[in-house]
Amino acid sequence: MTSAVFTGGQIFDGTGAALAGGDIRVEDGRITDIGTGLTGDVEIDVSGKTILPGLFDCHVHLTTSTIDTVERLNTPLSYRFYQAIHNMQTTLDAGVTSVRDASGADLGVKRAVDNGLVAGPRMQISIAMLSQTGGHGDSHVLCGAEVRVPYPGAPSGVVDGPDEMRKRVRELIREGASVIKVATSGGVLSPISDPTRGHLRDAELDVLVEEATAAGLHVMAHAQATDGIKAAIRAGIRSIEHGIYLDDEAVQMMLDRGTYLVPTLLAPRMVVEAADGGSRLSDRVLEKVHMVIEAHTDSISRAIDAGVKIAMGTDSGVGPHGQNLRELGLMVEAGLTPTQALVATTKTASELLGVETDLGTIEAGKLADLVVVDGDPLDVDHLQENIVGVYKGGELVAGR
Ligand SMILES: [Zn+2]
Repeated sequence: MTSAVFTGGQIFDGTGAALAGGDIRVEDGRITDIGTGLTGDVEIDVSGKTILPGLFDCHVHLTTSTIDTVERLNTPLSYRFYQAIHNMQTTLDAGVTSVRDASGADLGVKRAVDNGLVAGPRMQISIAMLSQTGGHGDSHVLCGAEVRVPYPGAPSGVVDGPDEMRKRVRELIREGASVIKVATSGGVLSPISDPTRGHLRDAELDVLVEEATAAGLHVMAHAQATDGIKAAIRAGIRSIEHGIYLDDEAVQMMLDRGTYLVPTLLAPRMVVEAADGGSRLSDRVLEKVHMVIEAHTDSISRAIDAGVKIAMGTDSGVGPHGQNLRELGLMVEAGLTPTQALVATTKTASELLGVETDLGTIEAGKLADLVVVDGDPLDVDHLQENIVGVYKGGELVAGR
């Protein structure tokens, strides 16, 4: 078994502790020792550089490459999976070695990466987003067409009533879901739904959480409306995604229940950028994105001030993949320190995904997912361009 030692660098270990000098020895994909003067079969000189834990993005859509309505309607289903290969590499290039796919990627995508057929981040997949009829996951458009085609391996996410909910959660688990996603409010990119309205009733959400819990899975909620956020927290859902209209009561509920917040501050900005770049979006979608964008930052700042647990997520796929680390600058604008933003992208994110025994911090025994950066790692606005090497399980997957 060959061992590699990263020598001469600084370590940001992911816990929020100050940078400290140290060597890291990696053997068989795992970190076996951290200290000074370590030796190994191969030495990787990282003098003047900093090593971070592999980064997380807790909200991506790896098989989504455009939000342009006309382009989506004219893209063959299988083409999206070839595009995903490119999207996964650009995600690795950004130092992101673990993601939670918030709908789109199915078991074939995950398996292709796990088996080494294609390069990509470690992933948890939700396959399809559960939503009520007319909700954020309903792709029915007013002419009567369905924009999304369900297929074997990725059933429709549209459900109404506790009985349908129970069955559909079981179907997603059957197809290999590693996390369950539900929309407890409307959202921006769906054709009709209203982001300020709560969706699905408590009886439906209770069944959903009951079935997911029985299978050992966590639930993530696309939740923008205040009512939808509160319903998700009441039901015991683990993370609120987007959280656009948090009020003080919702923030307090999150603190009481230990609910995580995945802000995705980049998401509405990417929609605006897509529209400015010529993407064809409906007037209704454009109206919605401008409605939410200011409320969003205020809402996230309120949660940050109160001390809600924050995990990094971007909604990449809504905009180009590989720009994930822009989210850190936005989180800092919303009130996190740069160190806290990095912890949200490493340790806290690993806890949200329940993988903290293997990932999220640099510690002996953990998997050797490591990112080597030049310059000041706390200069989060330039973190992405400062990345010089990305290692997943000790293997170089991006950089030099
Ligand atoms: Zn999303």
